[in-house]
Amino acid sequence: MTGEKTTGSTEQANQVVSRLASPVSLVNLFGMDRERLRAQFASIGEKPFRADQIMQWIYRRGVDDFAGMSNLSKDLRARLEANFVVRPPELLTEQLSADGTRKWVLKVGGGQAIETVFIPEKDRGTLCISSQVGCAMDCAFCSTAQQGLNRNLDTAEIVAQVWFAAKALGGDFQNERVISNVVFMGMGEPLANYNAVLPAVKILQDDFGFGLSKRRTTVSTSGLVPFMDRLREDVDTALAVSLHAPNDALRNELVPINKKYPIAELMDACRRYTAHRDHKMHIVYEYVMLDGVNDSPALARDLARLLNGMPAKVNLIPFNPFPETRFKRSKQDAIETFAGILRGKNILATTRKTRGDDIDAACGQLVGKVLNKQKRRLSDIPVRAA
Ligand code: SF4
Repeated sequence: MTGEKTTGSTEQANQVVSRLASPVSLVNLFGMDRERLRAQFASIGEKPFRADQIMQWIYRRGVDDFAGMSNLSKDLRARLEANFVVRPPELLTEQLSADGTRKWVLKVGGGQAIETVFIPEKDRGTLCISSQVGCAMDCAFCSTAQQGLNRNLDTAEIVAQVWFAAKALGGDFQNERVISNVVFMGMGEPLANYNAVLPAVKILQDDFGFGLSKRRTTVSTSGLVPFMDRLREDVDTALAVSLHAPNDALRNELVPINKKYPIAELMDACRRYTAHRDHKMHIVYEYVMLDGVNDSPALARDLARLLNGMPAKVNLIPFNPFPETRFKRSKQDAIETFAGILRGKNILATTRKTRGDDIDAACGQLVGKVLNKQKRRLSDIPVRAA
């Protein structure tokens, strides 16, 4: 059964109103990484370690009110209130699926909303977060693609998804880790919003931030090669690649960015990524299983050849149909045969369980609410790393 509730008590509403009434000159600290927080504190003559303390309060303990930061002196709290505010975006709704999957919808201005999904499993809890309002990459099988792109999320909007989920799930990042993994696999192409995603990853991994291990943050990409190279140099994080086809003709059709960065270039970028000193781990290759399109034994053999000798794990994702799609989910025996062929060639292959489809939270079903979409062409997307 799907249960939906609108969050926010009268007290919370009053807090929001009083914050909205704050002078506009107050700097919002929410969404700043340690470097930026320290710069803010330096600007009011405070020592860097104060910024570290605030960072812990915000991200580790989920406190967004200076009055609640009990290890700060009264004087300092007063100075902080005079200069800064900690204001996350507004949470709209929370939904709970029969299988324990949860979905949150966050308001991101202009009447638009984005979605975040938590998937609890026996040994871990994975939070799937969004990086853009919609997406311009136009992958043929993806419901987010149907929405087009409106805009990039800023770092605060990205980090807030983790912050709200941690609070709602009852644990915190201090003692109890309900969220053990964060994956950038919700709405949007994370590497097309690199300048906001990079500080978000840093906050997720920072010991004073959410403190997640480097192996437990995963950035996913449909294959923006120059930004894969930049990510490799800038931060140590796991990488997932939305592959979905082992040859250019089919991938051009399913993942159009392939026309710009064909499979050979993409695989070279993957090799560079895993050869880097900080990334000695496999890349996860996502492969959505589409009935009669990309699920034949011959294509499984091609995929095994493509990944031969690479540190790779293939995640087979049974397609989740959505209205107006021309695709159907592969039959179970086709998925099993495909996985068996990969394993027979010594490629790690897993099949993702479908979760949360009663609340449209299954993979490829995140649509949020994208208004004023500007269905940009791929040629408009920034593909060069600055
Ligand atoms: S699969 Fe990912 S990159 Fe492709 S359109 Fe959907 S959200 Fe964008």
